[in-house]
Amino acid sequence: MQQNHNGRGAFEISVELGALTSNGHDPQIVVRVGPAVASLVNGIGGDPLMQLRLLHESRSLLFDMGDSGRMALRSAHQVTDVFITHCHADHIGGFLWFLRSRIGHFPSCRLFGPPGLLGHIAGMVRGLLWDRVEDRGPKFIVHEWHGDHLKRWQLNAGAGRPEALEDLPTPAGVIHRETEFRIRAAMLDHGTPVMAYAWEPFGKLNVRKNALEEIDAQAGPWLHDLKLAVLRKRPDELISPGNGATYRAEDLAAQILIQTAGEPVVYATDFADTPENIDRMTDLARGAHTLFCEASFMVSDVDQAKRTGHLTTEATARIANAAGVRQLVAFHFSHRYARRREQVYAELGQFTDRLIVPEKETVSSGCQPTQSDR
Ligand SMILES: [Zn+2]
Ligand SMILES: [Zn+2]
Repeated sequence: MQQNHNGRGAFEISVELGALTSNGHDPQIVVRVGPAVASLVNGIGGDPLMQLRLLHESRSLLFDMGDSGRMALRSAHQVTDVFITHCHADHIGGFLWFLRSRIGHFPSCRLFGPPGLLGHIAGMVRGLLWDRVEDRGPKFIVHEWHGDHLKRWQLNAGAGRPEALEDLPTPAGVIHRETEFRIRAAMLDHGTPVMAYAWEPFGKLNVRKNALEEIDAQAGPWLHDLKLAVLRKRPDELISPGNGATYRAEDLAAQILIQTAGEPVVYATDFADTPENIDRMTDLARGAHTLFCEASFMVSDVDQAKRTGHLTTEATARIANAAGVRQLVAFHFSHRYARRREQVYAELGQFTDRLIVPEKETVSSGCQPTQSDR
């Protein structure tokens, strides 16, 4: 039975207190994956916020937006996309800071999330007075995922009501696609819809050994054009490699290029251990380089995990193992383990050998308690 975990309705649920992460000392967990660096900004016990820096582009993608006190202002300026799992306070509480940091002449930032996202974002934007901002108000394109399509709105702070944009289809769960990568999503259940995300880079296109000799051509700018045609899905573009012939991009690519597989980073938190959730997550995380996944409760607290729609260490490990991920970063530990995290890691280690354990695992103390959803 799926229970409402927010304490309202028919179930009596004790709300657990978390820690104010900007006061905490949780070490950040930083993982390099190909052309990107993924950082769990508030560590394993703080508000969920994962920053994925794309090193060649001076830009960042954010996954959730809990307490953002640890993020540099410059980083906020470089954020192009934010992927929100759901709108509980610990996952979106940092939005006000982000909003403030985007006053100026910045391009629209894309926000993605489950149905209802627009209402929460627009509500926070409306909560501020925008009388002095003129045309420098923060701009967003809000995307809500409704199964097979995205509903979209342009939302400019200080400029009136959100304007509806054309829906976009999401074949096979792909909610965003660019030249270098795509973002695939899965919809999970946490008593409320929650989205999990996979950043899937396309990998490098390389010229096969001896391929140029075989077609009697030399390397040149045409190779760049060919790779772009492949990455941008333009199979019929015509390419002339200087050997007197002209080819369809798709045909020439098949003849001379090989593509190495990209290594995905997957981010998932706040969902219950149900067969459907586990299936969807295993599918999303299959073959990932790194899976960032919640492990809120130890097995002995399985009842609390069920009541609040969260995972135990065992369930988290089960997903990592079944999906064959290279490494697992477990996070969003319940605050109840703040002084005994080594026990959580020890338990996780019994279920999987894919676990990353932070080197300097320290325990934050002296924090003011705040509400979390566990
Ligand atoms: Zn939640
Ligand atoms: Zn949460």
